[in-house]
Amino acid sequence: MVTTSQAERTAPSAGPEQIAVRNPVTSETIGHVKQSSADDICEAVARARVAQRAWAERSLKERAAIARRWGDLIWKDQEKIVEVIRRETGKTRRTALAEVLATDTVAQYYASNAPKILSPKRRKATFPVVQRAKLIYKPHGVVGFITPWNFPFNLAFMDMLPALVAGNAVILKPSEITPYSAEYGAELWRQVGLPEDLLQIVHGDGRAGAELVEHVDYISFTGSTATGRKVATRAAQRLIPYSMELGGKDPMIVLKDADLDMAATSMIRGAFENAGQFCMSVERVYVEEGAYDALLDRVEHYIQQYRIGNTDGDDLYMGSLTNQRELERTEAHVADAVNKGAKVVYGGKRRPDLGPLFYEPTVLVDVDHNMELMREETFGPLLPIMKVNDAEEALHLANDSEYGLAASVFGKDMSRAEQIAIRIDSGDVCVNATQFVVATPSLPSGGQRNSGVGRRNGPEGILRFVTTQSVVLDSGLGQKPELTLLTDQNLKLVNIMRRVRRVLPFI
Ligand code: NDP
Repeated sequence: MVTTSQAERTAPSAGPEQIAVRNPVTSETIGHVKQSSADDICEAVARARVAQRAWAERSLKERAAIARRWGDLIWKDQEKIVEVIRRETGKTRRTALAEVLATDTVAQYYASNAPKILSPKRRKATFPVVQRAKLIYKPHGVVGFITPWNFPFNLAFMDMLPALVAGNAVILKPSEITPYSAEYGAELWRQVGLPEDLLQIVHGDGRAGAELVEHVDYISFTGSTATGRKVATRAAQRLIPYSMELGGKDPMIVLKDADLDMAATSMIRGAFENAGQFCMSVERVYVEEGAYDALLDRVEHYIQQYRIGNTDGDDLYMGSLTNQRELERTEAHVADAVNKGAKVVYGGKRRPDLGPLFYEPTVLVDVDHNMELMREETFGPLLPIMKVNDAEEALHLANDSEYGLAASVFGKDMSRAEQIAIRIDSGDVCVNATQFVVATPSLPSGGQRNSGVGRRNGPEGILRFVTTQSVVLDSGLGQKPELTLLTDQNLKLVNIMRRVRRVLPFI
């Protein structure tokens, strides 16, 4: 029997609390991890602090080279990683493989670009020639990561990579539901020569996550908005910096000139990837009236070909859900929508013949914003499609949300589509593609409003893991010892510089 949290806790009379980890497809227990105590976490951070000092002394190039080796190793070892991910998530082979490949692109990006991004920068001095001004970057120290179960390998390591390259030590608290993908990836870091204690994993439920926040110098959280708010509140009390990658309710707008085959396949893929357990799932679609009927026809055509199952085949598009709670939430959203007048045109049922957590990819029409599935994050395989009068109405509805993670617009007139896309209030947006910002490591990705704070990927994704130190080097050239800075000579100089900079602002 799969329980609500899937990971069941047992506390034997002698010995520490153990967490059982289950395979969501077979319900078998695949192992146990020990719930880390407050002392365990405190000691892990103390060890990390010692390891971090030596790590920060090593050159950026050396640290980047280790990240590159780790990327190369996960590329080589992808079959085994896929197996570990699948055992604790129930996802398809292809979806698990995507986790590994996406993580590798981040490793390669930072291995190549971090040395330049984090090299010391010159800034304009107040008094050129006499002074030099520069900026240097320093790691925070020990960075904590709290990550969810939906992409347990990718989300454990994609943010950790830049933190390590920047010179920090890291401590990861993966979801109690999926601890083994993180453990396996950490073992590979050891194999490429990452010094001991620089990357440690602590296990457990929210208690372990909350304890970690008490000790680290920066916290990177990926998970629900509700938990993110608690973590951010505590981080603010401790005055430590943080980033929050939270939930979403991502809209797609289909304009009447769109290529409807591309739009239909993209929305199916975008809504049902990882059984919809994706913070950047396409969660609601708005279609201009002129394209609506033809689009539904195309969706119906392609959805018939969308294979779900529990085997190892590469021909499957969707596997099991991972989490019982999300299955129940998905069902509740469908029931609420149907009660309020929505129509299920495809799917809408559990598939116990495949496994206890399987749910059909489900397409709904006649939906509106009074329904939960158009306002609250679903985290299951639902695709609600709504007809709108025009692009302005679509935009208004797309922005009528507490979230702002990712969005997409489909239309053949690319410049019109882009104009509409950039009016959506979201951190990421694609034209004629979905979820591709996060697959572009040079671009910062992340949410606004209740979808998060801060950005992953790109220069911004590594700059969050360092603090700056600003340095002024004064040669003393032409200066005499004085008891005030505002000497007549300096006042003249200020006046001259003010005028010169009007004409030559780069000085
Ligand atoms: P949760 O917020 O429930 O959990 C996320 C992590 O936080 C888990 O490791 C969890 O531990 C831990 N945790 C729980 N309570 C606390 C606490 N009080 N203090 C510190 N840590 C705590 O999210 P889910 O695991 O259910 O993940 C799904 C959510 O994640 C969705 O809302 C989704 O949108 C979001 N998400 C966002 C992404 C993004 O990049 N924006 C990417 C992927 C998911 P445990 O699980 O062991 O209880």
